Amino acid sequence: KQISQLFELDKKHYLHPTTPIKQHQVNGPKFIFTEGKGVYLTDVYGDKYLDALASLWNVNIGHGRKEIAEAAYQQMSKLAYSSSFSNLSHDMVIKLSEKLSTLTPGDLNVFFYTSGGSESNDTAFKLVRHYWKLKGEPQKRKIIALDRAYHGITVGATSATGIPQFHDMAASLAPDFLHAAAHQTNCEQGDTTDPNYERSIRGLIESEGAETVAAVILEPIQGAGGIIISPDGYLEAVRRLCDEYGILLIADEVICGFGRTGKMFGVDNWEVVPDIMTLAKGITSGYIQLGAVAISERLRDELAIVSNDMLFHGFTYSGHPTACAVALKNIEIIENEKIVQHAKDMEAELFKGMCYLETKHDIVTKSRAKGLLGAFELYADKENRLPFEPAAMAAQKLVEECFKRKLIIRSITYNGTNIIAMSPPLIITKEEIETIISILSESISAVEKQLHN
Ligand code: PLP
Repeated sequence: KQISQLFELDKKHYLHPTTPIKQHQVNGPKFIFTEGKGVYLTDVYGDKYLDALASLWNVNIGHGRKEIAEAAYQQMSKLAYSSSFSNLSHDMVIKLSEKLSTLTPGDLNVFFYTSGGSESNDTAFKLVRHYWKLKGEPQKRKIIALDRAYHGITVGATSATGIPQFHDMAASLAPDFLHAAAHQTNCEQGDTTDPNYERSIRGLIESEGAETVAAVILEPIQGAGGIIISPDGYLEAVRRLCDEYGILLIADEVICGFGRTGKMFGVDNWEVVPDIMTLAKGITSGYIQLGAVAISERLRDELAIVSNDMLFHGFTYSGHPTACAVALKNIEIIENEKIVQHAKDMEAELFKGMCYLETKHDIVTKSRAKGLLGAFELYADKENRLPFEPAAMAAQKLVEECFKRKLIIRSITYNGTNIIAMSPPLIITKEEIETIISILSESISAVEKQLHN
């Protein structure tokens, strides 16, 4: 097809996820990519773009790995599909489960499979409620999530999400989801005199009654909410709080999992073991759809003791053989190429680069990174933390300038905060990080000029 025709057909027939509908209808898609290799994507005109977001925080091993294509081909040729309903199984799902159990912390050794992060989170919510019901506490139904959390887009996951814009579309959200102020370490440790106590997780548990709360869910590092790293001591305090009150802890590792933060899982940065971990994205580095829910053996054993009932939960594609084969190959690559350690080593390069941007540009501040999950912020007056007016569209302008220079990054804006997020493929080299920083610097200069005019 002619290139212009592709743009027209996209406009006509494709309803894009998380995209302004009118803008798409008028302008069509920004880019149409046709190939990927390493940290680069190539568009329909043959132009190469540095994918500093690993597309959607997921292409951890980089684009264009032929080994993955080969693993998928082999599996599809051998056993394209087989279900695991009604106690059936197949070799790939068994191998993947065993492999994952060697990577996950503590006794999180039992796995349920989905096709993505939202389904994993909804599964976790149903499992914890089912668990309490079987234990004779059906009123333990409430799920506490954090402000600015992103947990996905199915109705349950949207209800747990703490970014209000996502709530608007649902009209009516699922009941029994509450939101707490994020990262109130003092309150979670028991300081009830703290001004944020009422809105802390502890405050909510105590005002709602622990006998009504099933679980707390959190991301070790909030991704879509703005790359917000849990302060040291926070996850530990929440773990202790949950133990104190008999509440289950769910870690949403959809972005953090599989090396993103320089450890295999985000919680490993603080050595906290949740009761449930939800996984997706990096489990296959985005080569195919797969999500998983890791539950502790203790939880599974308790479910088994209490109930002889069927687990009335399962997707047609739970444990899809090709997805499992791809995940296994992806994990093999992560291990053989020591990609988690590489992500840890590259953290310093990314952070150094962002600090350079801070010294060079008056509007850049608040750099942070854990592994290869990093961000900085733009302020009109950084000394006095004076934000840009939303109408200035500072972060959006910077993204556009980066696009012009063939760098893909992401802006996150709320309440006057302008965040620039980065999460490149974990195989990125020092030189490629330098390229990101130099393009960012040029692009920031261009934005500074526009904002001062
Ligand atoms: N949880 C987190 C932390 C995420 O970042 C995402 C997606 O970005 C999800 C859940 C939802 O995953 P999915 O889009 O695969 O449903």
